[in-house]
Amino acid sequence: MARRAPYLSSRLQGLGTSIFAEMSALAERTGAINLGQGFPDTDGPAEVLEAAIAAIRSGQNQYPPGLGILPLREAIAAHQQRFWGLTYDPATEILVTAGATEAIAASILALCDTGDEVLTFEPTFDSYPAAAALAGARLRVVPVDDVAAAAAAVTPRTRLLLLNSPHNPTGKVFSRDELAALAELCVEHDLLAVTDEVYEHLVYDGAHLPLATFPGMRERTVTVSSAGKTFSVTGWKIGWACAPAPLLEAVRTAKQHLTYVNGAPFQPAVAVGLALGDDYFDGLRDSLRAKRDLLCNGLEAAGLTVLRPAATYFATVDLRPLGEDDGLAFCRALPERCGVVAIPSG
Ligand code: PMP
Repeated sequence: MARRAPYLSSRLQGLGTSIFAEMSALAERTGAINLGQGFPDTDGPAEVLEAAIAAIRSGQNQYPPGLGILPLREAIAAHQQRFWGLTYDPATEILVTAGATEAIAASILALCDTGDEVLTFEPTFDSYPAAAALAGARLRVVPVDDVAAAAAAVTPRTRLLLLNSPHNPTGKVFSRDELAALAELCVEHDLLAVTDEVYEHLVYDGAHLPLATFPGMRERTVTVSSAGKTFSVTGWKIGWACAPAPLLEAVRTAKQHLTYVNGAPFQPAVAVGLALGDDYFDGLRDSLRAKRDLLCNGLEAAGLTVLRPAATYFATVDLRPLGEDDGLAFCRALPERCGVVAIPSG
C-alpha cells in the first residue's frame, strides 16, 4: 500500500512524484546520461528559435487572445489540412494550450462528469491518470496491443476514448484497421474521443492516421498535438486542440480557468515552424529514425531483447531474458552500473 501523502487531497493520492521526475533527478545526482526524459539533445530549427527572439524583442510579451494568436491558429489549420486532409476553422475550431498536457487535462475536465469513465490503453502517459483524477473521472485501461479489449471495457458510464497514437512508451502506431475498429466503437456507443498525437511527425515505420479522419469521428473528436516534439522545443509548452466548435467551446472554458492563455512570444514562432517545408519534417523523421536504429542495433548487439519502436522517442528493452523481473529496481541501479538512466514501464 502506497504511503498516504500529507496535505494532498484524496483525489490526488497516489499521484506523487512522476517516474520521469524521479529518474531525471537521479541522472542529475549521478551525472548519468539521461535517456529517460523524453526530450531531444538538439535544438529546434533556427528560424523558429529566431522568430521567438524577434517576438520578444518586438513586444509580444503580454496576454495573447484566449484562443491563441490568429496567425498560429491559421498555421495549425493549414497543418491539419496539409498533412491529414482535416479542415478546421481557425475562428472557432482551434485552441492554443499550454502543451498537449493542458489540452488533454482541459478536455477531460470539460467533457467528463464525476464518475464518468475514460477508456484508454496502457501503459498510459503519466498525465492521464492525473487528469482523470482531477476531473473525478475513472480511467479504464486495456492493454495497448489489444484493441478488441477496448470494446469489452465500454460501460454505460464510458464518456470518452483517450487515444495516444503514436504511443508513448511502446512506440506503437495504431494501424488503419485498429483505428477503424475504435472509430466504430465510438460511433456505436456515442463516445467522444480525445487523441494525443504529439508524435505525429516522429513515425519511422508505417503511417500516422488521425482518428478524426475516420467516418463519424470528426464531429466527436478533440485532436490534440503540440510543438514540443515536432520542433524539438519541449520546454516551450505550446500545444493545441482542434475540434468542432461546440466541443472546442467546452475545452476552451476549462483552459480559460486553468491558465487563461500561455506562451505569447512562442506562438508566432510555432506558426513559423508549422509552415516549414516538407524537407524539415522529412529530415526530422529521418534523423530520429537513424538514431533509433543506432540505439536499437547497439542494444541488440549487447545481447538485449529490444522492442523496436515504430515511432516516438522511446525504445523498450525486455529485461526478463536477463533474469530481471523488477524494472524499477533495475532502473534505479542502472546509473551506478553503467552511467545511464532509463524509465521502467509495464
Ligand atoms: N502526451 C505524450 C504521449 C507525451 O509523451 C508527452 C510528452 N512527453 C505529452 C503528451 C506532453 O506534451 P506537452 O509537453 O506538449 O505538454
